[in-house]
Amino acid sequence: MEKSRKKLSIKIITLFPKFVNDFVESFGIVKRAIKLKLLDIQPVSLRQFGIGERQVVDDRPHGGGVGMVLRADVLYKAIKSAKSRVLSAKSKVILLTPQGKKFNQAMAQKLSKLDNLVFVCGRYEGFDERIRQFADEEISIGDYILMGGELPALVISEAVMRLRPGILGKLESTQNESFSQNLLEYPQYTKPEKWKVESGKLKGKIFSIPKVLLTGHHKNIEEFRKAESVKRTKKRRPDLMK
Ligand code: SAM
Repeated sequence: MEKSRKKLSIKIITLFPKFVNDFVESFGIVKRAIKLKLLDIQPVSLRQFGIGERQVVDDRPHGGGVGMVLRADVLYKAIKSAKSRVLSAKSKVILLTPQGKKFNQAMAQKLSKLDNLVFVCGRYEGFDERIRQFADEEISIGDYILMGGELPALVISEAVMRLRPGILGKLESTQNESFSQNLLEYPQYTKPEKWKVESGKLKGKIFSIPKVLLTGHHKNIEEFRKAESVKRTKKRRPDLMK
């Protein structure tokens, strides 16, 4: 039984609103969720809060150094505007930065309990340090440097939205997957039952599938999957089981 069907509202502050619009346009599940009023995801153009006629949003770093830094006063106006459109107290402003906490499924679970998320995407050399005061959380999607925060914002949005009731067809499809219970998912198989490789190094080899999956015996299948899941996690990601 699904607990709630409240709308998840996501605002993404960015210099490149098209990233967000393209994402929305590209995925049927996202469009369907918007139609069902389970999701609202919109870019907030940072440029409109820029200074002067040229709507400047960045400047050179004080003290010297390469590249440009996004201005805190401009970002602040954008955050204030995005937040003013948020009605519920269950909201969070998230700064995308390589120095943030590394994103994982447990963080996605926590964020999925909130109804409003505001993401702030950096570009160039990043943000003026003072903007950190106005964020509730700083998140990195991994130890590597991208050109901007748009992909990280969409990665996190996608991981979060699929955990909201009603957005995926079947809620249980998020319950036994990798990381949901500190385990990696068990191996999956589909047709054909026997598959003969036609070319390459393994030409002629026949791959079949574990027999238990063909028995229709639900309890045995469940036990087999659990054992495979544990075996795989111990081998590939023992850190998850600690
Ligand atoms: N000079 C910054 C540093 O060394 O930490 C990197 C700036 S990066 C080129 C520009 C922007 O991309 C960042 O402000 C951030 O918003 C985003 N970004 C890049 N890599 C990221 C990551 N791994 N996780 C989250 N955001 C990232």
